Amino acid sequence: MLPVPIVTVDQRDQIIFANERAAQLFGYTREELVGAPSARLFPSGGLNTDRPEPGDHGMKIKVPGDSTTQILMARRSDGGGFRAQAETTRCRVHDQELRVTAISDCSARGEVDGTTKELAHLSRVSSLGELAGSLAHELKQPLTAILFNAQAARKFIDAETTNVVELRAALEDIVADNCRANDVLQRIRALVRKGDVELQLLDLGNVVRDVEILVHSDALTRGVSTSFDIPENLALICGDRVQLQQVILNLLLNAFDAVKDCPAADRVVETMVREEPGGLIRITVKDRGQGLAVDSMERIFRPFFTTKPQGLGLGLSISRTFVTAHRGQLWAENNEGKGASFHVALPVATDIRQGRAP
Ligand code: ADP
Repeated sequence: MLPVPIVTVDQRDQIIFANERAAQLFGYTREELVGAPSARLFPSGGLNTDRPEPGDHGMKIKVPGDSTTQILMARRSDGGGFRAQAETTRCRVHDQELRVTAISDCSARGEVDGTTKELAHLSRVSSLGELAGSLAHELKQPLTAILFNAQAARKFIDAETTNVVELRAALEDIVADNCRANDVLQRIRALVRKGDVELQLLDLGNVVRDVEILVHSDALTRGVSTSFDIPENLALICGDRVQLQQVILNLLLNAFDAVKDCPAADRVVETMVREEPGGLIRITVKDRGQGLAVDSMERIFRPFFTTKPQGLGLGLSISRTFVTAHRGQLWAENNEGKGASFHVALPVATDIRQGRAP
């Protein structure tokens, strides 16, 4: 048995051969793989090395002998995701253009990826730590409302003639407030959890909305006015929800920090999501803060670069790692007027749309 997982695809990006190692790596049988599109294994666009890519941050490296090396998100049959290095060589057999790809599991390389994972978790928990005070406030509101409504319900029951209509309304409010509190808790739990990469089709608008709920109180407490311009029904991308939430959370908290010393009129952070030509979805977080010094445009993405007394300097470097692994791009620019804008562009995986999450 060849010691390396190998798949061969034809011009239509369909798998025509897979060795036993490849089948084992992805959790399929060889028979299941043959005839399947390569996008089954690499959901963000398959193994098509000719496709123009939005995120070329060292992801696609031409190597001699007409080979191309890519770092891609790969998906196993059980839905679990991992980062894979795919080295593809073209060859011509009986007039057919074939691509032979040797795959290795980057996440299995342990140390580097494990460390990144730990640091990412640390940074995520530290962002949530920053939010702790305002999240407690966010939870206090529904809890107080639940208490009031429960007290009112008890009065309705104790009254001589029970007002069923009002009693029902009080109970319904209790249920609604409970759902609100639960919503916030679930989002916190998802971010604190140390889970494996889980690739799925996602509406980026919904991912941004999840983060909007988490930062809502923090923005209020800091006197920052936020706006979220998110169209309905975006084309779906393929990605890991927690990683992408972490990226957006980081950009928003950085933007809040950037406007903290501004006069109230400039304590504004706008978030936009747009579908762009070329099969991309772009998220922009724009602030009216001090902007970025020209010489630090790229430096800010280096690990441990921080200008904040309590900063870890990990947020942007981890965010870029995540976005790059999604075949996307993360960059910053100064606005024409005040402040900076951070952009995340991710490739669309499919034209199926799912609308708002329930
Ligand atoms: P940290 O927030 O812990 O400093 P990050 O990696 O998230 O780590 O950010 C690195 C640095 O990039 C920040 O310390 C800051 O100097 C700069 N930066 C990030 N976002 C902005 C922004 N919106 N405006 C100005 N500077 C920013």
